[in-house]
Amino acid sequence: MAHLKEATLSRRGFCLCCIGGATFAATGLWPTPRQAFAEARGLVSLIKDSAAVSPIVTHKLRNNISVLEGSGGNIVVLTGPDGKVLIDAGIGVSRPQITEALAALGGDPITHLVNTHWHFDHADGNEWLHSAGAKIIAQENTRKHLSEVQRVEDWDYNFLPSSAGALPTEVFADEHHLKLNGASIDLKYYGPAHTDSDISVRFAEADVIHLADTYWNGIYPFIDYSTGGSIDGTIAASEANLAATTDQTIIISGHGKPVSNRAELQEFRDMLVTIRDNVAKLKQQGKSRDETVAAKPTAAFDAKWGQFVIDPAFFTRLVYEGV
Ligand SMILES: [Zn+2]
Repeated sequence: MAHLKEATLSRRGFCLCCIGGATFAATGLWPTPRQAFAEARGLVSLIKDSAAVSPIVTHKLRNNISVLEGSGGNIVVLTGPDGKVLIDAGIGVSRPQITEALAALGGDPITHLVNTHWHFDHADGNEWLHSAGAKIIAQENTRKHLSEVQRVEDWDYNFLPSSAGALPTEVFADEHHLKLNGASIDLKYYGPAHTDSDISVRFAEADVIHLADTYWNGIYPFIDYSTGGSIDGTIAASEANLAATTDQTIIISGHGKPVSNRAELQEFRDMLVTIRDNVAKLKQQGKSRDETVAAKPTAAFDAKWGQFVIDPAFFTRLVYEGV
C-alpha cells in the first residue's frame, strides 16, 4: 500500500476489488500513520471517503454511449428517449459527482440500471439510483449475494444485506435482452468467473461491450473465491470475451483504463494463462504459498501489470488458491 497515492487512486478509480488486508502486510513495512488509521477504521470506510472526493471523468464513445470513470467500477451510460440506462452504479457517496456527470449527458430521466455483479464498488449506488427512478436488472446470483450477509475473505470483510430498494427486481439465469433507446442490449451470464454473478453487456448496433470485472485493463485483477470466482473461471471468461469481439469492438473494462480493444484484451488473457501455468508448476513441485510468492512467478509481467493495488504477491496468492 505504500505506493498508493491519491493521484493513482483518482486516475484509476478507487475500487474495493483492489483492496485486500493482505496488501498491507505484504509491504513488510510499518504502515504510515495514515495507513494505520485506515486499517483501524476499516478499508470500506477508506474507499468510501476516497470515492466521495474523486472526480468523475466522462468518455464519450458512439451511439449515445459513454463511460464514467472515478467511482468504483467503470460505469456505462446509454442515453435517449427511453431514459438513461446505466451499467453499474459505482459507490453511493459519489452521487453528487455522478449526478452532475449524468446531467451533462442530457436531460433524460434515469430509468434502468444493470448490475454486472454483486460487488460493492459496482452496486453500492443501487439505492440512490433506484430512488431516482431506475429499475434494477441483474443475474440472479447478484440478487442472492446482495440479499444476504456476504463475507469476502480476501478483504476480511462482512457485507450486510442491502436495503429492499437496492435489490434487483428483474433477474435472469443465462441471458436477458433489452431494447431501449433504439439499442439492442444483450446481457449474458459467464458462469463462475471473477465471482459467480458476472455478466457481460453488449450494445449490438454500436459494437460496444462492457466486460465488467472479467477484464482489468493493464492491472492484475482481483478474483473473489468467496463467491465463486477462480483463476480458471477468469481465464474462461477472457476466452469467451475474445470470441465475442473483433478489432472494431469498443471494449469497456471493469477497472483500469476504461476504453480498450481486442489487442489489449488478448494481452490480458495471455498474461493470466502464463502466470497460471507458472504458479501451477510451483505448486505441483510442493512449494507452499509463501515459497511460490518468493519464486516470483509473475516477474516478467510486474512492470506493466503490478503497479496497482493487486500487487504481484497478492495476485500470486490469488492464483495459487485456484491451481
Ligand atoms: Zn468485482
